Amino acid sequence: MSNQNILIVEDEGKIAQVLRDYLEKAGFRVAWLDRGDKVLPLVKQDSPDLILLDLMLPGKDGLELCREIRKFSQVPIIMLTARVEELERVLGLELGADDYICKPFSPREVVARIKSVLRRLAAPPLQEKLVAGPLSLDEQRHQVLIAGRELSLTPSEFGILKVLLAHPHRVFSRGELSAQVQGYNFEGYDRTIDTHVKNLRKKIDAILPGQEIIKTVYGIGYKLNKV
Ligand code: CA
Repeated sequence: MSNQNILIVEDEGKIAQVLRDYLEKAGFRVAWLDRGDKVLPLVKQDSPDLILLDLMLPGKDGLELCREIRKFSQVPIIMLTARVEELERVLGLELGADDYICKPFSPREVVARIKSVLRRLAAPPLQEKLVAGPLSLDEQRHQVLIAGRELSLTPSEFGILKVLLAHPHRVFSRGELSAQVQGYNFEGYDRTIDTHVKNLRKKIDAILPGQEIIKTVYGIGYKLNKV
């Protein structure tokens, strides 16, 4: 995993320095920016392997940046937020971030999450297409078609759909989905899965309304509906 490039965007120097130390010790190369308005040119020029993106930044905020980066790049993004209320707001928006971490955090946890996001993305793709009813998922092309039309999904949404399609008769708890998709299952991140599923449903619904392709199993989690 060494020699991968992590970009830290964080205006608090102390936090950035601690993260940088831990990440360098873990074998990553680290770049640090303390302003939002410097981010886009650097991402375009250096193509980092992962971005740790603070929400409140001078110049341009993390929400705006996340949206703008997604217009041209699928680089994994982990958002850093200072408060739980902020996290709730962020989760309600469809930003395409891969993960979220609340401050204050332990730098060890941040390193673990970064490794897990990178590991997940490095896993070899499935050789076969997964197909269920009007849905088909081609991992090598990173493409999902529904009724012949392409869905534009974030990496997490893609991961959830892949797990559900690969096991069409199984019910997955939120914790299981989180473990499969994010590579870990920390308590309290069930909400993240709910938000990803909600956004995924919205996108499917825009093409094929009223099908309820992802079914909520009350008190347990989610499964693929019979399609
Ligand atoms: Ca900040």
